[in-house]
Amino acid sequence: MEQDTTLPRWNLDPIYPGFSSAEYSDAKSEFQKLAADFERHCATPPGAGAFRTWLLEALRLSNTAGALGETLGAFAYTSYSVNTRDTTAMNELNAVEEMALALRRADVAFKNVLAANSQEAKALAASDPAISIYAFFIEEELFLQSRQMTPELEDLAADLNRSGGDAWSRLQESVSSITGAIWDEATGERKTIVQLRALAFDQDRAVRQKAFKKELEAWKTVETPIAAALNGVKGCTVSLNKRRGWDGALDKSIEQSRISKKTLDSLILAMEESLPAWRRYLKAKARLLGIPACGFYDLFAPVGGASRAYSWNETRDVVVDTFSAFSSDMGDFAAKAFREGWIDAEPRDGKVGGAYCIDFPRSGVTRVMCNYEGSISSLSTVAHELGHAYHAWVLKNEPYALTHYPMTLAETASIFAETVVFEDALKKVAGKERLALMENHLQDGAQILVDILSRFHFENAVFERREKGELSPAEFSELMVDAQKRTYGDGLDPEALHPYMWAVKSHYYRTELSYYNFPYAFGQLFGLGLYAKYRKDGPAFADTYRKILLETGRASAVKVCSNAGFDIETQDFWRSGVKVFLDQIEEFERLVAAEVF
Ligand SMILES: [Zn+2]
Repeated sequence: MEQDTTLPRWNLDPIYPGFSSAEYSDAKSEFQKLAADFERHCATPPGAGAFRTWLLEALRLSNTAGALGETLGAFAYTSYSVNTRDTTAMNELNAVEEMALALRRADVAFKNVLAANSQEAKALAASDPAISIYAFFIEEELFLQSRQMTPELEDLAADLNRSGGDAWSRLQESVSSITGAIWDEATGERKTIVQLRALAFDQDRAVRQKAFKKELEAWKTVETPIAAALNGVKGCTVSLNKRRGWDGALDKSIEQSRISKKTLDSLILAMEESLPAWRRYLKAKARLLGIPACGFYDLFAPVGGASRAYSWNETRDVVVDTFSAFSSDMGDFAAKAFREGWIDAEPRDGKVGGAYCIDFPRSGVTRVMCNYEGSISSLSTVAHELGHAYHAWVLKNEPYALTHYPMTLAETASIFAETVVFEDALKKVAGKERLALMENHLQDGAQILVDILSRFHFENAVFERREKGELSPAEFSELMVDAQKRTYGDGLDPEALHPYMWAVKSHYYRTELSYYNFPYAFGQLFGLGLYAKYRKDGPAFADTYRKILLETGRASAVKVCSNAGFDIETQDFWRSGVKVFLDQIEEFERLVAAEVF
């Protein structure tokens, strides 16, 4: 195999040539001025007959200030994330966040002026050509206004959040980042939680088991501060939601997701319905591994060395070719991203783990960060993140206010891109290699459908209990294990569940974003639903697909989906996405039964 000696680092210069450049400092001054202008504008409600002019100016300021603020924040964050020792980047990130507080205040005031003129705002949204593109945005702002406190209280909440909810969230982050365990008594070698968790992918079951045991012991030593953090975050969320008139955290999350309760119920039911198949998959996997039953530490176990390695150039070619086979627009986009240094793929000291795609709306570009290690999952991650990047690319000429999509639709483009690449790879292999590839895919599927469902049940239970008071670490663990039993069922050894998953997942520690779980399942199944439609409709689907992405910032998820011909309020729609997995599980079971391994 051709060996890549270097993996690419991204080029941020076209955005700003460094923190000390004139371009960057000018942009910061401009942002400060725009944010102040926007705040002043919103603090001065329009006189009689002047609402239309006021609204247009407010939208202009909101769009320009928002796009610039996000671009500056993204620039600081990207710089920081590839070198976490870069204190300048960290300071710049804080400075931009500080400046953005003015935007938050302006936003509260904007919603209030809008609400005070709601009749006229709705009339303009219905008939005025310059404003009607904002119809959904205006409607949503009016709704959110009905769910906000007075400007003074919102200001206080935003201010206190930095030493309240956000501080609890940082505590979880910092405590887990310094927690670890002695790995080797003889040498005194210590491993961090991240290192221990990475061993879940090890070939050797004894290593996985040992790492799991060490990980649980490590969590045990810090369960008290982490439980305090979770109590703090959930407590803040419960109080603020009540004050703002939400009917609980789930109610708010449904609204943030731009879906309906009916949609969520149908999705959850379809997920529940798929559980028996997932348990069969886990049993087949146990057979493949030659063990009586899978424990939590076997979920990511590799099933044989049949899967091949991909060089960076191969990854580029696979992604560009498969994207191009779907649509030339998407293929050209990916080629541009590779060619122009949009991707930082090289793992190195000081760089954060994982992968992400980040948007620079002012510059109309994105950047992708990943830690490439040559496996099929690395390839899939690159495709996934470039899917996000393509979504942003499609939206790049939209007014900033119309580029925000809910978390439910945030994963549509990424899952779709990932699926296109996966299906192509699957077509090319047979036997052992096919088995390994399928297992890899099902592994991810089990996370997104089974594990996510356990997280959903857990969060429900936590909110219910937190309303009444604080929970002890033991209670959190008990709820977690209950949720895992409910979803994994007899697919996993009940003695080998993970009671500390509540400490692991940082998603639980965000005050403004509860239930950051079911949107993943939504995105996965919706992405698969789109892929099934592409297979049926062929190349003609590429245009529809682009339109769907373009609409994600302009309408509710229910509307975006119904325009694409899907009724997401019915269970049948979700079943069609689930079926893609069910078919694979059946084939996987057949291959295992035939002892293809
Ligand atoms: Zn994603």
